Amino acid sequence: MFLVGLTGGIASGKSTVSSMLRELGCPIIDADVVAKKVVEPNSTAYCRIVYHFGPEILLESGEIDRQKLGELVFADEEKRRLLNSITHPEIQRAMLKEILFCFLRGYRYVVLDVPLLFETRRLTQFLNHTVLVYCDPATQLSRLMQRDGLTQERAEQRVASQMPLNEKRGLAKHVVENSGGREETQRQVLRLHTKLEDSMEFLLVRVIAIAAAAGLGGVLLYAAKVLAS
Ligand code: ADP
Repeated sequence: MFLVGLTGGIASGKSTVSSMLRELGCPIIDADVVAKKVVEPNSTAYCRIVYHFGPEILLESGEIDRQKLGELVFADEEKRRLLNSITHPEIQRAMLKEILFCFLRGYRYVVLDVPLLFETRRLTQFLNHTVLVYCDPATQLSRLMQRDGLTQERAEQRVASQMPLNEKRGLAKHVVENSGGREETQRQVLRLHTKLEDSMEFLLVRVIAIAAAAGLGGVLLYAAKVLAS
């Protein structure tokens, strides 16, 4: 199995492409979903966050007020580091568990849906492929305004706060061009999926796993012989 990172910019169509890939049968690990899951009440990260940031960051339901916490760490570098040191290892562990599960189920590749893939670059070293969902700036702005009910000014601010899509384009191995209609995007997604499915890259990890299992089997056999003698 091998790993494919999927990313985009706000309203460039990442969720749309992710759904298309899911419909084709690809396993998708959504970093946002994982990040929410690891701070669910009574999890390790939840307890540590409440310990360090106090019960003021909780909603009445007992869940963490992610927006409040986000605003708190946005203005304070030290707090941001502290929060990251609590959540990142948990997120990585949870993602690794899901990746392992996909491997055991025999998938050839798994898609990691990561909004800030190129900004943080934490995962890129583990990825065999990176896919950027791109659309032109005017289309991005109008889709964002429509989807989130934003004024043009507010939408422009949100786009400007991210790494420009044109810059991400230079970093990605594959680009899904999503400025046109959904059918056009669907065709590109199908082409990409076929290419990844046909790739032999998945074999490397399988061979390593088989070799490791065979090695372990040999060691166990030797140990059994020694014990029996
Ligand atoms: P992201 O996940 O990158 O923020 P979305 O997939 O939510 O972006 O897409 C942003 C908006 O644009 C959504 O309302 C979606 O339905 C719409 N959209 C995405 N791709 C297309 C397309 N090819 N044609 C028309 N509308 C689209």
